[in-house]
Amino acid sequence: MNVLSSFALVCVCFLTKAFSQQIHQIDIIDASVNVKVIPEQHQIHGDVTYGFKILEATDSLIVDARDLEILDVHLNGVTVDFSYTDQLKLKVYSHFKKGSNHHIEITYQAIPTKAMYFINNSNGQPKQVWTQGQGKYSSNWLPSFDDMNEKIEFDISIKAPKQFEVLTNGKLKQKQKIGDEILWEYDMKKPMSSYLLAIAIGDFDFVQSESKSGVKIKNYFSQNEESKVEPTFRYTTDIMNFYEDEIGINYPWKEYKQVGVQDFLYAGMENTTLTIFSDSYMVDSIAQMDKSYFDVNAHEMAHHWFGNMVTETEATHHWLQEGFATYYALLAAKHIFGDDYFYHELYKSAKELKAQAGESLLNPKASSLTFYQRGAWVLVALREKIGDRSFKKAMKTYLKDHAFKNVDTHDFFNVVMAKSQFDLDGFIDRWLVQKEFPFQEAMAILNTNDLIKRLLTLDAMDNTAFEGFVVQHSDIYHQERQSAIVDHIVQRATMLPESLRSETYKLALRSSVPENSQSVAMNITKIPASLKVDFEALLTHKSYKTIEFALLKLSTNFPKSLPIYLDKTKGIDGFGNKNIKTLWLALAMITPNYQNDLKLDYYNTLVSYTQPFQPYEVRLNAFRYLAQLEAFNEPALKNLIQACLHPVWQFSEFSRQLFGSIIEQPDYRGIMEGLTKDLHKQEHRFLNLRLDHKT
Ligand SMILES: [Zn+2]
Repeated sequence: MNVLSSFALVCVCFLTKAFSQQIHQIDIIDASVNVKVIPEQHQIHGDVTYGFKILEATDSLIVDARDLEILDVHLNGVTVDFSYTDQLKLKVYSHFKKGSNHHIEITYQAIPTKAMYFINNSNGQPKQVWTQGQGKYSSNWLPSFDDMNEKIEFDISIKAPKQFEVLTNGKLKQKQKIGDEILWEYDMKKPMSSYLLAIAIGDFDFVQSESKSGVKIKNYFSQNEESKVEPTFRYTTDIMNFYEDEIGINYPWKEYKQVGVQDFLYAGMENTTLTIFSDSYMVDSIAQMDKSYFDVNAHEMAHHWFGNMVTETEATHHWLQEGFATYYALLAAKHIFGDDYFYHELYKSAKELKAQAGESLLNPKASSLTFYQRGAWVLVALREKIGDRSFKKAMKTYLKDHAFKNVDTHDFFNVVMAKSQFDLDGFIDRWLVQKEFPFQEAMAILNTNDLIKRLLTLDAMDNTAFEGFVVQHSDIYHQERQSAIVDHIVQRATMLPESLRSETYKLALRSSVPENSQSVAMNITKIPASLKVDFEALLTHKSYKTIEFALLKLSTNFPKSLPIYLDKTKGIDGFGNKNIKTLWLALAMITPNYQNDLKLDYYNTLVSYTQPFQPYEVRLNAFRYLAQLEAFNEPALKNLIQACLHPVWQFSEFSRQLFGSIIEQPDYRGIMEGLTKDLHKQEHRFLNLRLDHKT
């Protein structure tokens, strides 16, 4: 089971509805934020001043503030009464007259349990602090406005211990040392919604580049990640140049920063001028082949036009953000990797969309597959229908007319219809409103590409025709552009007669195109003896995925040769999640007479990977192998209980399922019962509940 596939969602999509009427009565204009972050105590305190204008007379101002401790509130410089009984909304009462201007200053402190996260290192010392606003609410660490229709120009200053680099939205104006701390002052010139607020604090360094138009791009990395900088950020500047050219409107903000952090909740988040992403995408030159940052990089950058500059009014129109970011990331990939890549990605997404139960793109609760992939497909089909020129003109006008405002689907199509002179009612009905994805229409668009034509022909073949195709096309295994065809053949090879099947695998394994041998490593379960040597050669491939699959499959097919395989792969960690190292340790432990004197060390290393300071991706692999070996000890069980409460939901979900199966076993249950005194309050409560529940 791999709950964390490399195709994890690019970013979150639960958004607040425009629930308040306040937006029609009060316009919040700017914000001056002055906060101090105390990583050691997981605390933030400070104050924020909002300048606002009254559009319609009203008797109150409401500010979202989730579980904060409000210390003081001043309205226009004077202490004012406020109510905050629900710990959710701060209400300030006054006779606000139409047309009047005011400012409110809120002093507060908080120990956020959501939206701001504190990561420790192996010594229990602070390592990173980072935030996630979308879906979690910035009002957990700053009194602000959850309604994304409220756009504010934020200027943020942050005080933090001097050893850290501090990043937030905007451009760094200055920093000054004050005792053991540094005050970082950032400046923004344009307004944005509060869900795009962000802070990232850590031991970061950066490399800088510049787009053709002069946008400063700063790519940050942790100090032990220097070797990963080039492979990870290889295309960032190219993508920025491409977008400015393709969209026809310059990057709307002053600079662009991105930083990878540990245990991030999603793949990436497009906070204005500060994309935060999972550091599992910080990859070395080998990992780059299988787990590239490209998609996330391009997707989050595209949001700076579609999402950050023009923002949906409510979740019904979420495709205006996710569909657009997905589409432009695809265009960037087409620009850099070519047509085949672009069409093949669309082919795969169309198949996925066809396979799922249909749902309208305008359903605010639609799946991410719908918002992201079907949303992108709308733009592919629209461009096909109205032509490149009209499409680009419409996009430019749409962005210009609605810059720094909120939009809905009508706003977009009104511009498109005006610019293209097309009646698009039928199009909108088929592509957006109807539940069923227009698969045939999609395929007709893809059929213009040779690679897809071939794949579609293969899809339609019966087994006899397929066999004929395989016999006739033994020349494709060394052609780089045919790897999608080879993958199709390998996946379907079980249908072939044995000798042809074996020959097919051999050709793919001996191919100079690395994707082809990887296909075999992933798809084959029983390795024929005649392919043993070819398969063993995969253990030295320049792909961590291929090596992992090869080692796993060789170990089950040829267990007697395991010592040789282990010697060959010793010392390889693999991806950031140590996919090869954790597998290696598990295999080394169970291989009879293999380094018997080190077996205990190997076991302890695997257990040490379950510790809370380790990245959750590493912990997940360690838990998985300990479960398979039925080798949990007391520290590992304790770490598992802690993992059940982890903020990354895929990981806590995995841990809870594992915990559920473990607690059934009497031996483990005995250890767990003895653990209760040794846990934090929440962990203790969780364990007690589960122990009680099962008795
Ligand atoms: Zn997104």
